[in-house]
Amino acid sequence: MKKSPFKFIVIITLVIIAIIALLVVLSNSQSQKETELGEQPPIEGQPVLGDEDAPVTVVEFGDFKCPACKAWGDQVYPQLVDDYVDSGDVNFSFINVLFHGGESELASLAAESVLKQNPDVYWDFHKALFAAQPASHDEQWVTTDNILDIASGVEGIDTDELQTAIENETEIDAVEKDDNLVSKFGVELTPTIMINDIMIEDPFDYEAIKNAIESELEG
Ligand code: CA
Repeated sequence: MKKSPFKFIVIITLVIIAIIALLVVLSNSQSQKETELGEQPPIEGQPVLGDEDAPVTVVEFGDFKCPACKAWGDQVYPQLVDDYVDSGDVNFSFINVLFHGGESELASLAAESVLKQNPDVYWDFHKALFAAQPASHDEQWVTTDNILDIASGVEGIDTDELQTAIENETEIDAVEKDDNLVSKFGVELTPTIMINDIMIEDPFDYEAIKNAIESELEG
């Protein structure tokens, strides 16, 4: 049987369509990993870990009451610090999210008060707060008494001064400032991770985080 050129053209066309479809799927899955917002969260007045002048800033929108934030701190954050913060390529900042209500607000108020009182020990307190989050995270554990107890285990915090600051809500403006940034950047879940102006779709996808950091370092 003679080969039909028509058949050949049909096959080639189908192959080309299949390749185009594959490319579309691939490029979509790539863009689903991150969203460019065109603006990065301002970190003035926020806690900053690492070199203030680092070329890339990673911001976590997080909540001390959120179990996924605790897990992120245990699983992803140490790699990020090892790979990029220690080398001076990245600095890391944390903005409070209040999705769990009164307890989120109280924990944030305490953290902002510690930041104000002694910025050098902010990250120690931050870590201690997350470490104190119980496995049954729905139960109430953020109370002023509990916070003062946690703070008493962190060197460099004056707990009397902290108690006064919490009771007088002296840093409530900082908490509200964070809450406004959460609205402004459309944060809907915690933790939300931003690399400069890029929002990462899955905060536990360290490859996506690395790729975004690398592309920002190149750019
Ligand atoms: Ca803040």
